Amino acid sequence: MFCPECGSTNKKMVGNICKDCFLKDFQIINIPLEKLIISVCAHCNSHYINGKWKDIGINQEQLIYQTLKDNVDINELVKNVELDLDIVKMRGSIAECHIIADAEVLGESINQEYYTEVRLNQTVCPNCSKYNSGYYEVVIQLRADNRDLIDEEIVLADTIIYETLKRLFKKSRMAYIAQRSELKEGVDYYIGSQKAARKLVINLRKQFGGIIKESPRLIGQDKSTGKGLYRTWISIRLPEYHVDDFIEYQNNILQVKSIDDNKILATNLDTGNITKILWKDSDTIKFHKNMKDVLITTITSKSPSEIQILDPETFQPVDLPLTNNMNDLSIGSEVKVIKINKRLYILS
Ligand SMILES: [Zn+2]
Ligand SMILES: [Zn+2]
Repeated sequence: MFCPECGSTNKKMVGNICKDCFLKDFQIINIPLEKLIISVCAHCNSHYINGKWKDIGINQEQLIYQTLKDNVDINELVKNVELDLDIVKMRGSIAECHIIADAEVLGESINQEYYTEVRLNQTVCPNCSKYNSGYYEVVIQLRADNRDLIDEEIVLADTIIYETLKRLFKKSRMAYIAQRSELKEGVDYYIGSQKAARKLVINLRKQFGGIIKESPRLIGQDKSTGKGLYRTWISIRLPEYHVDDFIEYQNNILQVKSIDDNKILATNLDTGNITKILWKDSDTIKFHKNMKDVLITTITSKSPSEIQILDPETFQPVDLPLTNNMNDLSIGSEVKVIKINKRLYILS
């Protein structure tokens, strides 16, 4: 066959030209320059790729290599291609890149060099622009039932919120606190995303227990997705009582032993038994007194069925039924008592 490029007649043909002429102009790779422009958030380094903002934690250099790797087209005729990518230098937001391509084409090994540019278009991603504008999706309202929050609770809640956000922020740029307001009735935390807020509420409840109430409100529409935008107010109402406080539940007087996100455990002061109260059943709990109200008195007599103490306020003798947990008490020794509903309870 005759090659119209070089005039030879004895060479292997590829299409209508000879193999040598074909390889002379052959390109192992094709670089579509328009695809090497990436939008990068100047604040968080997240980038716009395949129609989506991604904030996987890769640095600028990795991003440039990834963009090259993803967008360089390799000719279908080549086999065993090996690309060696290199950033030669940064010129402002432009990365000058060098590519060495090794491949086999039609049984021949060829080696080519390319120079190209990756442009980083500095912009602000939607998450950062939300953050900058003070955007928030949830207000967590920390409150206490029938009382003010105590300082220890506020400090602990702040710590839980900030520590949890610090962890979540590594994965989601929306895990931030836009605002914190201390009000007469409690503390409000304005949280960037629903997802982060839910995690915060879970962690706060693990510590404090309490009752959750949610009220979502439609605040607008997401321009890009057309979905409704909601802002949710989540209130966590901490119980009036703390651990060690004295409460009444189903006509029994109990001392609170522990509080968690699922239940309250409390000791029955008459029987010494532990009572478990789930949060959903907790609204009938009545708070009575705390450890500051505990008094000291003396045992004045003891029989197989009763124990007698002096009422520490009236100094009148009071007989109480003797229970198993009082076996160790002896006449003349001091005991702690709490008076609730005009009745004395010995604390063991
Ligand atoms: Zn030729
Ligand atoms: Zn950003």
